[in-house]
Amino acid sequence: MVGILSHGHARCAGLKFNEFLKFSHVTESELRSEVSQPAESENVRENLLDLPPDSAETRLRAFLEGIGQPAYRARQILRHLWTAPVSTFEAMTDMPKQLREQLTEAFDLPRLQIAARQTSKDGTEKFLFHLRDGEAIETVAIPEGNRLTLCISSQAGCALKCAFCATGAMGFSRNLDVHEIAGQVREMRLLDPPIAVTNVVFMGMGEPLMNWKAVAPALTILNDARGLGIGARHITVSTVGVLPGIVALGERREQFRLAISIHAPSDELRRDLMPINIKYPLADVIEAARAFERRVTFEYVMLGGVNDQEIHALQLAKLAKDCGAFVNLIPLHPGGARGFRPTPPEEIVKFARELRREGVEVAVRKSRGADIAAACGQLRVERLGARAPRATEYHGDIQVA
Ligand code: SAH
Repeated sequence: MVGILSHGHARCAGLKFNEFLKFSHVTESELRSEVSQPAESENVRENLLDLPPDSAETRLRAFLEGIGQPAYRARQILRHLWTAPVSTFEAMTDMPKQLREQLTEAFDLPRLQIAARQTSKDGTEKFLFHLRDGEAIETVAIPEGNRLTLCISSQAGCALKCAFCATGAMGFSRNLDVHEIAGQVREMRLLDPPIAVTNVVFMGMGEPLMNWKAVAPALTILNDARGLGIGARHITVSTVGVLPGIVALGERREQFRLAISIHAPSDELRRDLMPINIKYPLADVIEAARAFERRVTFEYVMLGGVNDQEIHALQLAKLAKDCGAFVNLIPLHPGGARGFRPTPPEEIVKFARELRREGVEVAVRKSRGADIAAACGQLRVERLGARAPRATEYHGDIQVA
């Protein structure tokens, strides 16, 4: 987020279903009927959307050769997977009808079902997607000037139990597949009218670096010109500090951005707030940030009376200077953060000033989408009822450049 992300934000948190309806464009019955259950049989076909463009093209070429079709069709089909996506092979009208039928028989193009869509007065939109197995994830679209940042999920639920994050209390369901991660952007292109995503942040549900197996190919799809074609410097992976994942991200030749959720400037306090600190203590996280080739961003949620004192600013400044990080101060979203209170805005400004005085570059996020401020996760909880009351998630205030 360094450099490219500067002003404007969105925040999401718990919103009751009825409140959600107030802000949505559809009626309750329309919403409920939007949630469809796909056929079981679809699962046996090969899923082209789980493959990075290279592999998908290779697979398609082999398939085309097998049925005596020209190889150039592979490129044509590939284009319709991500770049100019269509919903079904049937809709690839630049292809002969028989070929479209053969493709339909052999391959799967799974969609994410929009179960709910919620629009803020300022244009921020929240989507609840239902996955084939009934899991639900959330995605937030934040327009800002000529940019549109999409905040995407990498897991259904989260295992990390950060004390201020609602998901922490609710637990982990499963990792998302490649197509479910990149598919969140694909679905934006399939909307009518489409939403053109310019920036992506992994600040939705889950810990992306604990699902590297799927996040790595998803990053390729997001960035590749034959995929979604989003510039690597416009894609930010946010992590609690999963060290092997940071190394893996740093080894990518593309300039993907890294944001680290610091939230406490000492091991003692961080252990209380973020149990992951036991496995990956601060010193190691800072070392990994220093070793990361590109400049990193620290995310720091302001918890009233907990991590917002002058001493914390000084400690945080030292950590940031140790690895040259840019600091984003995030106002706490109280939904899901039981037992915590937000730091008053004027104290956040003061905290920022202290960091600046220490020579640290800092931005204070402000909220976007105030009228739908609560939605993430709670929406999922409301929609799924008692079946899966686990994934209240906060997407963070997302800074868009
Ligand atoms: N697991 C990753 C990405 C998802 S969370 C990570 O932790 O970085 C995205 C951001 O939202 C993180 O910085 C997270 O700490 C923050 N967040 C979670 N709950 C919050 C809350 N109640 N108020 C403000 N930020 C919150």
